[in-house]
Amino acid sequence: MIENKAPSKDISLQDIQTKFPLAAKKDPKHYSSFEISGIQFGPDYVPIFAGPNMVESRELILNCAKNLKEAGASFLRGGAFKPLTFPYRSDKYTETRERGIEWLNDAKNIYKIPIITEIMEEKFLPLISEVADILQIGTRNMQNYPLLSACAKSGKPIMIKRGFGCSLRDWLGAAEYCLIEGNQKVILCERGVVAPHTHRETSRFLLDLQVVPAAKEITHLPIVTDPSHATFWRPWVRNMSLSSIAAGADGIMLEVHPDPPNAAVDPLQSIDYEEFSSLVIEMNSIGKVMKRKRVGE
Ligand code: PEP
Ligand code: MN
Repeated sequence: MIENKAPSKDISLQDIQTKFPLAAKKDPKHYSSFEISGIQFGPDYVPIFAGPNMVESRELILNCAKNLKEAGASFLRGGAFKPLTFPYRSDKYTETRERGIEWLNDAKNIYKIPIITEIMEEKFLPLISEVADILQIGTRNMQNYPLLSACAKSGKPIMIKRGFGCSLRDWLGAAEYCLIEGNQKVILCERGVVAPHTHRETSRFLLDLQVVPAAKEITHLPIVTDPSHATFWRPWVRNMSLSSIAAGADGIMLEVHPDPPNAAVDPLQSIDYEEFSSLVIEMNSIGKVMKRKRVGE
């Protein structure tokens, strides 16, 4: 934090008092603690969000729900409405949209696992909020303020992924747009930022682990990391997940697929069920060191 100065990418005392007073901590020990569909967020527990990038089929999402719940996932993730980078589609590479939301609902009802899924347009809010326990705002929409306000007004918990070019200051501004609507259940998710060097040709982003302790100095909101989107590379996901717990992350989002090389979207970053299972055990070991009661369910 810097003292009162002209606006900059860093956070000033004045920002804390006037730009995001609701997102800011009231004292150094102030951490939000709340429950979403029976899952506890806050300083003691570290929920895990796991699932495929895309809700490809009913069969896939039911299989994921069963296996991931057994292995310790707290929430099932999966996109039905997806911000795919290019507009061309094939039978495999296509959004499942309303059908995908219906399949997520089946997975939730059959396996009793809460759901997080992305919302990109306000017009789908009634449909998605019927099924989602948490509305995910993707990196590309972090600064879509009308969307944030509409989602916040629905009263549904919201997870805001950090814009890949945005500062902590910008991110807390987005959170404030939700908090000001009286919605207290706001979660932040670091998913990788643009950087001059990402250490591999296929890795588009860099996991900004430093933002975890930095955010916790300023805000009481839980902060999750998404090592899958950040690294874009399966062999790095384990290390960055364990490091996230050590950095103080309050949740972890992971892409998991039964057959990662054949995932319809982002096949390089998904881990399989077996890798996920052992990672949950390892994250719990690091969690103990960090005085967390449990990582996952
Ligand atoms: C996702 O979680 O599926 C996703 C698209 O993430 P991001 O918005 O971080 O790219
Ligand atoms: Mn993705």
